[in-house]
Amino acid sequence: MIYTGGTIGMKQDPMKQALTPFDFSQILQEVPEMRKFAFRIDSFTFDPLIDSSDVEPSLWQRLATLIRDRYDDYDGFVVLHGTDTMSYSASALSFMIGNLTKPIIFTGSQLPIGVPRTDGKENLVSAVEIASAKDFDGHAMVPEVCVFFDSLLMRGNRTTKVNAENFSAFRSPNFPALAQAGVNIKYNSSLIRKPGDWDAGIVANTALDTSVSILKIHPGITPGVVRDILLGEGTRAVILETYGSGNAPTKEWFLDIIREAREKGKIIVNVTQCLYGSVDMGLYATGKALKEAGVVSGSDITTESMLAKLFYLLGKSGDPDWIRDRVAKNLRGEMSN
Ligand code: ASP
Repeated sequence: MIYTGGTIGMKQDPMKQALTPFDFSQILQEVPEMRKFAFRIDSFTFDPLIDSSDVEPSLWQRLATLIRDRYDDYDGFVVLHGTDTMSYSASALSFMIGNLTKPIIFTGSQLPIGVPRTDGKENLVSAVEIASAKDFDGHAMVPEVCVFFDSLLMRGNRTTKVNAENFSAFRSPNFPALAQAGVNIKYNSSLIRKPGDWDAGIVANTALDTSVSILKIHPGITPGVVRDILLGEGTRAVILETYGSGNAPTKEWFLDIIREAREKGKIIVNVTQCLYGSVDMGLYATGKALKEAGVVSGSDITTESMLAKLFYLLGKSGDPDWIRDRVAKNLRGEMSN
């Protein structure tokens, strides 16, 4: 169990008048149920513990390295993480770790674990059970990076945080849940990704390049803003968050900037602002114009997952064509195509 921080382990600090993280032994004290499991649970606590709004790619690098180094010692890994950026972190780990044969289950809570109506206990206990579950062949039931929250096990790179208050804080809008915890934990085995080779050995790709911007298209967007983001010196890739099935303004100035960026070797990808559904740049003239200008479709991927995918691909190569080709492909179950 890897504890990075987040509300699950926070309590009210009377001095700061705000929630701050407390240590792992106190989390375990709050969940005596954990002692009923017939397996060994070791813990690793990040120092400092953080509110996940402070998560940086360096935390993902530390997580990936830690899991790779201790991989053979455990059947599975549970990562306790704040909810605010959990989908980003789970997405990042899904790309960074190759040949995964064991579960990495992210969870957290909306209410601290010491609070009477907490959702943290339920989430923690179920995540541990799932991380240790085996199939008839003795292989991990879910060898994927997942988010477990409010009784649903979801593929991590398909999730997004949708609620700042309810216990059902996460949704996997374009892919069904991998399991549901009720009286029993019911696995949707046919949806769970299995490795091609159970013995290939884990790989941790820790090189990330974060030169990525996100541009949310909106009525009234100006040439100055679009130029700054698309042609900015430090930007190698831009995620365009477009309308509906991948549509954006067809004004000539807008398409000219896209073409100029593309000519400069930038990678421009199209992700929809809609929670459900997919980009289809063949449907409307507005989408077609983007395709012709060299924009790559992100299909039904989430913005969080596309950001992580680009960090990972940019870290792997300097060749824009190679990156564009991979962006459009399903690498870890993050998109349907
Ligand atoms: N701000 C907290 C965090 O992301 C919220 C949470 O954990 O639910 O760390």
